[in-house]
Amino acid sequence: MTEPADNLVKAIINGIEVQAPSNLSVIQALWHAGYPRVKSVGCMEGVCGSCRVLVRRAGAREVTTELGCELLVEEGMEVNFLLFPNPTHHTYQLDDIPNSWEVQDRFHHIFPEAAHCRSCGGCTTACPKGIEVERGVELAAKGKFAEAGDLFVECVMCNLCQTGCPETIAPNHVGLFARRVTAYFHIRPSNLINRLERLRRGEMQVVE
Ligand code: SF4
Ligand code: SF4
Repeated sequence: MTEPADNLVKAIINGIEVQAPSNLSVIQALWHAGYPRVKSVGCMEGVCGSCRVLVRRAGAREVTTELGCELLVEEGMEVNFLLFPNPTHHTYQLDDIPNSWEVQDRFHHIFPEAAHCRSCGGCTTACPKGIEVERGVELAAKGKFAEAGDLFVECVMCNLCQTGCPETIAPNHVGLFARRVTAYFHIRPSNLINRLERLRRGEMQVVE
């Protein structure tokens, strides 16, 4: 169905003027303007974190970071897609951590830069999911991995927090470590255990 002309807005996306209905996301606006629609490059549901954008709205001075699949196009909006930053250098095997007493020490060996957090809030400001990123890094650095991991449940690994960090901390990977290590050294949720047990006994089928 064709949108009425008064619902059309003009925006600048990657330096090019685009005209599109206001109920479209930034990515859909690009498709509407004739840009090729490439399949299987993102989830389009704010989950994969690959469509990170810088945004300045009409009349606004500040620039925000958001996800292009969730952001609706607005009149006068300027948008630039961001390239994926350099991959993090953190590598580790949870199997190499002998017990939970060692986790905090290992964390600081794997993420030595986490101790240099300036509490500047750049990561929290950059996060399009509203996660308390700075607090998560602080909690992890203190060894409070369960609390830190809980904060990162909605993380989509878009890397914007990493891009915004002057100490080159990768807060999203700190969060991932916190979640992994919490699951590794704790009893799994009872509903998961019960479900796996039912699968083992053949009482549930796995549908492929
Ligand atoms: S914590 Fe970082 S990687 Fe995760 S959603 Fe927020 S900005 Fe993206
Ligand atoms: S951007 Fe980096 S230095 Fe600033 S609060 Fe976040 S983790 Fe700390």
